[in-house]
Amino acid sequence: MESITFYPGPSKIYPSVAGFMQEAFENDVLSMNHRSEGFMEILKETIQLFRQKLEVPTDYSIYFVSSATEAWEIVAQSLTQSYSLHFHNGAFGKKWFHYAANIVPQASATWFDYQQSLVPYLFEREIAIKQHNLEQLAKADVVCLTQNETSNGTQLTNETIANIQSKTEALMAVDVTSSMGGVILDWQRADIWLASVQKCFGLPAGLGIMVCSPKALKRAETIGDRLRYNSLLLIEDNFKKFQTHYTPNVLAIYLLMKVLGEIPTIQKIDKKITTQAKNWYDFFETKTDWEVLIQNTTVRSDTVIAIKGSIEAIKNVKTLTKQQGITLGNGYGEWKASTFRIANFPAITPYEIEQLKAVLSSR
Ligand SMILES: *Cc1c(COP(=O)(O)O)cnc(C)c1O
Repeated sequence: MESITFYPGPSKIYPSVAGFMQEAFENDVLSMNHRSEGFMEILKETIQLFRQKLEVPTDYSIYFVSSATEAWEIVAQSLTQSYSLHFHNGAFGKKWFHYAANIVPQASATWFDYQQSLVPYLFEREIAIKQHNLEQLAKADVVCLTQNETSNGTQLTNETIANIQSKTEALMAVDVTSSMGGVILDWQRADIWLASVQKCFGLPAGLGIMVCSPKALKRAETIGDRLRYNSLLLIEDNFKKFQTHYTPNVLAIYLLMKVLGEIPTIQKIDKKITTQAKNWYDFFETKTDWEVLIQNTTVRSDTVIAIKGSIEAIKNVKTLTKQQGITLGNGYGEWKASTFRIANFPAITPYEIEQLKAVLSSR
C-alpha cells in the first residue's frame, strides 16, 4: 500500500516529480553550470511560469533562496533599517521575531489572540491599545506578518493584510510558507512575500521563494547592505542576469519549473483548496466528535487544519491512521500533544481525503 501523508511540511510530493527527477538526471541538469546558458534558460522559464500561474504583478521581483527561514534573515539584514515589528499569534511568527531580534537593533513582537481576528484585537478593542499599536506601526521600518500560521491553523485574510498596510508607511513582509501556491494572495498589499516549496508546491524541501515589490527594492538600495552572500542587492544583481548569488539547488529549481508547468492557475487552485477546507471543517463539526482548534471561523486556515482532542485521543488516532498507511501532522509548539494537523495542500487527492475521512469518522 502506498503511504498517504497529510503532514503540513515536508508534505506530499506530486507523483509526477519522480519522472521529472529522472528527466533532470538524463538531461544533465544535475551537473549544469549555474552560469551557463542552459541554467539561465531554466531560471528564466521558472520565474516566468511562477509569475503566470500565481499571477504575480510584472513589477514584482521573484527570487529563489534556500528556505523561508533564510528569507526571514534576508528581511532583517537587507530590508530593515532599525525597527522590525512583528504581529504574531503562534510558533512560526514568534520564531521569525527571534531571528530578527538577533540581527536588527530593535525588534518588537506583539501577540494577538489566535482565536481572534488581528485588526479587531489590536486596533478596535481599547483606545489605549489601538493608540499604542498605531504608534508602533508609525515607528516600524518593516511590519512582519505570518499570513498562514502553520502551528495553529489560523490565517490572515487579504483584507486584514490590506488593512494593516493602510495604517503604515513601513514595508510589509508576509510569511506565506504554508499558503503560497494554495490560495490567492493579494500581492500589491505587501512588499515581501516569503515561502518555501515543501508545502503547497508539492516538492521536496530545499528551496525558498521571495516575491518583492519595487518599494522593497528601493528600500534595499537605501540601506545598501552588500555585506552578506545573501544580501538582497547581490541576489538582485544576479537574478537580473538569470543567475544566482551562489551555486543554487538547480534540481529544485528545475522541479519547480516542471511542476509550475503542470499545475492550473492560482484562481483554480484557490477554488479547489477553499472548497476542500470548508468541507474539512464541516466534516469535523457534523460527522465527528473532534473539535476544531480554531473556533472563530473567520480566522481558520484554508491550507492547514488543526484539530484538538485529549492527549489520549490524539495518540489513538495517530496509531489508527498509521495502521491504514496514513500520516497525520503532529501538533506543533504549545499545541504539540493536544492537536493533530491536516495539510490541505494542492498535491493531495480527493481519494486520499476520502481515505482519511473514513478512518476519522469510524473512530
Ligand atoms: C514551514 C514554515 C517555515 C519554515 O520553512 P523552511 O523552508 O523550513 O525555512 C516558516 N514559516 C512558516 C509559516 C512555515 O510553515
